[in-house]
Amino acid sequence: MASESVKVVVRCRPMNQRELELNCQAVVTVDSARGQCFIQNPGASDEPPKQFTFDGAYYMDHYTEQIYNEIAYPLVEGVTEGYNGTIFAYGQTGSGKSFTMQGLLDPPSQRGIIPRAFEHVFESVQCAENTKFLVRASYLEIYNEDVRDLLGPDTKQKLELKEHPEKGVYVKGLSMHTVHDVAQCERIMETGWKNRSVGYTLMNKDSSRSHSIFTISIEIYAVDERGKDHLRAGKLNLVDLAGSERQSKTGATGERLKEATKINLSLSALGNVISALVDGRCKHIPYRDSKLTRLLQDSLGGNTKTLMVACLSPADNNYDETLSTLRYANRAK
Ligand code: ADP
Repeated sequence: MASESVKVVVRCRPMNQRELELNCQAVVTVDSARGQCFIQNPGASDEPPKQFTFDGAYYMDHYTEQIYNEIAYPLVEGVTEGYNGTIFAYGQTGSGKSFTMQGLLDPPSQRGIIPRAFEHVFESVQCAENTKFLVRASYLEIYNEDVRDLLGPDTKQKLELKEHPEKGVYVKGLSMHTVHDVAQCERIMETGWKNRSVGYTLMNKDSSRSHSIFTISIEIYAVDERGKDHLRAGKLNLVDLAGSERQSKTGATGERLKEATKINLSLSALGNVISALVDGRCKHIPYRDSKLTRLLQDSLGGNTKTLMVACLSPADNNYDETLSTLRYANRAK
């Protein structure tokens, strides 16, 4: 796969209230024009900052609107033409993953990537001539390597992954919802979001310990001049990953520690898959190492496009986590 099909950007959020109260210093800076991100080790201020280069680097004052238009737009456009694509938000809890994916209603410039993608898809549907579309949505979460339907009749039921010779890997019993407009999509997103499991860690009471995947599937039936039907199908996966923080910092024990270990395992499996794809020389892509990568197998690699938004806190007290996010993101490009 050409590395062009995997893009990685970083986004550094503003300081939050807690960081301001603690009088934290910003250790992250960005040169957006060059896509560069710099991080200064607060314990070694005489050292030069570490430097990373990405396909885009966004700072505290950048809006999701800009990120969408510059980097997500072509990927979603490809999906409306019949290709598969995946957008991930990666980072420690509280770094801005949900802010980037779901976003705010107000101001409109901070609406998230997910509602923007809905709008984009339905605009394409309405503009196309001599075509018919079927748009369907599903929303699942992976929690502790268990898959659950966030929109199903029983959100507690564990679902199995199955493999079909033609369909590939799929989730048995996952509900698919036909959607006709943006408002319907947004309602579905909200319902699923409410159903997400939330856990508790010392870092953030509402920290989410699960990966969620919102999938929009589009079937496009085009009729050519001779009246012949052509079917194309595209799929867009919008993935809000579990917090990437290491368990030592969160003080997790028992069940929590087990959970955290599984989260770290699936995030490193994802990192391995993406870096093997980017490398291009690897014959073996280790999709099978986690449910997350198995599920996304048909949307990572090959003809598909992938975007990772690595979310960062600017504060000095998050230096280690932020550096590890930058390293993870750097491996993926
Ligand atoms: P995560 O999903 O990574 O745990 P959130 O998206 O919930 O983190 O963000 C944590 C907090 O920081 C939220 O209150 C959110 O509104 C705020 N936040 C995150 N990113 C930004 C941003 N770019 N601009 C302003 N506020 C942000």
